[in-house]
Amino acid sequence: MSLTAKAFAVYEPNGKFQVYDLNRRPLSAHDVAIRILYCGICHTDIHQVKDEWHNAKFPMVPGHEITGIVQQVGSAVKDFKLGDRVGVGCMVDSCRACPPCKRDLENHCVQGFSGTYNSTEQDKVTPTYGGYANFIVVNDHFVVQIPKDLPMDSAAPLLCAGITTYSPMIQHNVGKNTKVGVVGLGGLGHMAVKFGVALKADVTVISTSESKRNDAMRLDESGNNSDEIHARNIFFWGRFLGIAKRREHPRTPPN
Ligand SMILES: [Zn+2]
Ligand SMILES: [Zn+2]
Repeated sequence: MSLTAKAFAVYEPNGKFQVYDLNRRPLSAHDVAIRILYCGICHTDIHQVKDEWHNAKFPMVPGHEITGIVQQVGSAVKDFKLGDRVGVGCMVDSCRACPPCKRDLENHCVQGFSGTYNSTEQDKVTPTYGGYANFIVVNDHFVVQIPKDLPMDSAAPLLCAGITTYSPMIQHNVGKNTKVGVVGLGGLGHMAVKFGVALKADVTVISTSESKRNDAMRLDESGNNSDEIHARNIFFWGRFLGIAKRREHPRTPPN
């Protein structure tokens, strides 16, 4: 038996959101059914709704920064139980058999991972629909626990913007004695500043917009590990932007 969810969908590029009754799949052994409490609005959602990347599939239910409560679990689910606070990010499945999947690099799955929306399940046919809905069914491999002391609303953006900025910092051993430059103080940028400060790095926001100076300083001052040294090192140096654009920056290879 499939499970009906109420969702918000757009039906055409730049279309208006409309209520959409969605059938989530029946739970298989490793599935977790989640009652969605919050879903962040990632700029990807805006790009996709406007079909700015020319790969939009309609009707589309965006949303890949999802937090909610476990409502039902499949028979083989061990790590989640009813009532658990959980999150779902940008991926909901992958082949789990290829070399990258075996190394926990599902985002590099050679078969292609299943995005949370505007994508297909691993059958490459069934469309996926995201978190602008009250309910979702996700394989337990792609569900994470949300710590009890983390508010569910502010936890949601960590599932995309958060991991996108946290992951490279950890891969590159950011910490004390590291200098981090954050280009742009947008949705991801402000997370990067917070992570950098929390990791005790010297963080510099690089922007041509003087109006964001105070916001950058405030992010540091509200950080758990704020101190005068960090505050001094958060400043704007607009000229950097031109320099950064001219340089080649290698992408981090999957290793
Ligand atoms: Zn995103
Ligand atoms: Zn794979």
